[in-house]
Amino acid sequence: MDDIRTGNGYDVHALAEGLPLFLGGVRIESPVGCVAHSDGDVAIHALCDALLGCLALGDIGKHFPDSSDEFRGIDSKILLARTVGMIAERGWRVGNVDITIALQKPRIGSYVPAMRSTLAAILGVEEDRVSVKATTTEKLGFVGRCEGCEVWANALICK
Ligand code: MG
Repeated sequence: MDDIRTGNGYDVHALAEGLPLFLGGVRIESPVGCVAHSDGDVAIHALCDALLGCLALGDIGKHFPDSSDEFRGIDSKILLARTVGMIAERGWRVGNVDITIALQKPRIGSYVPAMRSTLAAILGVEEDRVSVKATTTEKLGFVGRCEGCEVWANALICK
């Protein structure tokens, strides 16, 4: 290993009734979902920003603008795969990622294993290099009032 880089990402989406909820590439059983131009997978969006940040490539909005019809309703797993491609074509591979999802409800802990395996497959790494953690905010703030979902992600890449 010659070199390592790290990056962080952060994203928030508002929640609204009657929309599908996708987190970490997994469909979550939920009465509310993220308001978004894409499928609203706020966890993948934060992860993409963390990976782009490793190489100072800007952010997800620069590469996949929400003003573009190309990305309307798009499966965020496609955006992640394209982001991994940008990393790979520059000679880097993913070392590990760590994601924290703040959501008051529904409780998503039981979906974490599926998120880890889904993300690991796209990132091209073993599942033990993909950490996903879920927390509430103890009913505090906009997350606590069930108005939104907030996600932080960190990534390390190496070559
Ligand atoms: Mg987003």
